[in-house]
Parts: sequence; C-alpha cells; structure tokens
Amino acid sequence: MNRTITLAQGNGGEENRELISRLFFKPLANEILERAEDAAVIEEGRLAFTTDSFTVSPLFFPGGDIGKLSVCGTCNDLAMMGARPKYLTLGVILEEGFETQALERIVESLSRELNRNGAIVVAGDTKVVPKGSVDGVFLNTSGIGEILVEGISASRVCPGDAILVSRDIGRHGAAIFAGREGIELSSAVESDCASLWPMVEALLKEGITPHAMRDATRGGVASALGEWAEASGVSPEIDEGALPVSAEVAGICEMLGFEATALANEGTFLLALPPGEASRALEILRRFEGNESAAIIGEVTDRYPGRVVLRSSWGTSRFLEMPTGELLPRIC
Ligand code: MG
Repeated sequence: MNRTITLAQGNGGEENRELISRLFFKPLANEILERAEDAAVIEEGRLAFTTDSFTVSPLFFPGGDIGKLSVCGTCNDLAMMGARPKYLTLGVILEEGFETQALERIVESLSRELNRNGAIVVAGDTKVVPKGSVDGVFLNTSGIGEILVEGISASRVCPGDAILVSRDIGRHGAAIFAGREGIELSSAVESDCASLWPMVEALLKEGITPHAMRDATRGGVASALGEWAEASGVSPEIDEGALPVSAEVAGICEMLGFEATALANEGTFLLALPPGEASRALEILRRFEGNESAAIIGEVTDRYPGRVVLRSSWGTSRFLEMPTGELLPRIC
C-alpha cells in the first residue's frame, strides 16, 4: 500500500476493500465485523446496526441532496438485511460560513425521507469547523433496524439462485458526474436516490424469501456481485443484454468511457433468491414507481467460485472485475 491515502482507496472497489481489510479488519477483528454484511446483525439476530458518512459534491443534485442521501444510505443498508429501519443518529460537521438556509433545506429533505422509512432520529451531534477544514457540510448517520426475516446474508447466495436487479443501473453516478461537470446534454439524468424499505417490506410480506440482498452503491453492480461471489464462494453469471440501462446513462458511459456496472446507485438493489420466486418478485418490484425496469439479470452457478461472469449477447463471456482506480470521489 502507498505511504499516504489515495482517493482510489475510497472508491468502493478493489483499493477500498484492501484498505479496509488491512487497516481496520485486522486490529478491530471480531466475528460480527468479519461477516462484512451491509449491516451488522446483533442481539441474536434480532437487530441490524450500521453507519455511513456522506460527503457528496454537489450537495444538491438531480434527484436528491445530501440530507435525503444520508437517510437512504443507512436505511437501505438495514433494509438489505431484512430489517425495518427504526432509530437513527445524525452527526453533522459544518464549515464556518455555510448558509443556514441550505442547512434548513437539507434537514427538511432528511426528515421527509425518514418518514418514508418510518424511522426517527433519536440522537445527534453538531460540530462547526473553521472555513476550509471541510467542504460545506458532511453528515454521518448510524441506524438500528428490527430484523423481520432472519438469515438474509451475502454468504447465503447458492448455485441455482436467480439474480434480480430492482431497476435500471448507474443513475446516481451518472447524475453526480453530470451535475459536477455541468454536462448539458445529460441534464435529464436523475439519481435513483430512494429508500428501499417499502419495496423490501412488500417482498417479505408477500412471502418472497431472498437469500441475499445488496444495494449497489459505490462500485456499482460490479462490486456488489463481486462481494457475493467472494462471500458465498459462488459464480454469479450475468447476461449483459438483460442489465437495464437507461438511454441517458448509456450516453454518459459512452461519452466518458465508463461501465454502467461500475457506476454508483443509491436506490437500486440486487436480490439472489430461489428461481421459482423470481417472476413473482419481479412483479412486486415493478409496482413501485421508478422500478418498472426491474429485471432478472442472470443466475448463480459454481463454475468459477469467487468470480462474476458477464455473458454478452454474442455468446461470449468474460469475468466482470471489481472496479479499480479513482472512480468518482465524493459520490456519496
Ligand atoms: Mg450497502
């Protein structure tokens, strides 16, 4: 590893994973942390617990803002463990000179998103640092959720499982990039930033039994699938042609040389579940606004344990690698 921290080490991909496993997992090792789930499962499987920090730039972007994002990020990680989000904490680091009105807008947005999850903020902390010490505002939220269905885990993905994605991919990454660079042509791209609990609740209530769920945030679908492959020792095989990508996101990818599978999402998740439940799960997901493009994108095999296979429409296939390099700093 380098002597100093690089931006690539925050990319949600390969370098980020290396940093976490070398610097944090070893000295802090314990059985719960080592499971590396979206949220820690504690108290004999009754509760899920997680934390997330938010440094997104710009603070307001098409489809969301740092306040909405700070609730979605943490509540979605709880939802991915089959947990109903309940209690959040909110840490706020403000830069001297930040506009009070902007902070008001951020908190209003945060509050609206909490309501969508049925969660509340029960503790918080506010710090103000001198101008230049932080860029505007950084947030941290931690959350506790009540696990409704036990056993959902990144290590439970099995050969034979169907893999679904809840909507078209890559929107958050594309929207942030377009917002930052002022790309006029793609002003139509909105972030997918959304709370996933309502969809997860509907799936669970209607008897769907996911083996694993993961929101494809930093590092995109490629990272989420790679993590499943590693944690479960299986081989997710994905049909490239089945991956839903909007025309706007495809355009940005083409223009900038990105892969949609490596772009971040903030309201898009993957499910691995028994194949017999796939079409029913798809039907439930598509009831939700924005999720009309939910799709079955492949299945799990044991052909190349630990690797993700991407099958092209031409009949060829290649491994889908974990994203590397300095993807997009401050995406979330
Ligand atoms: Mg997650």
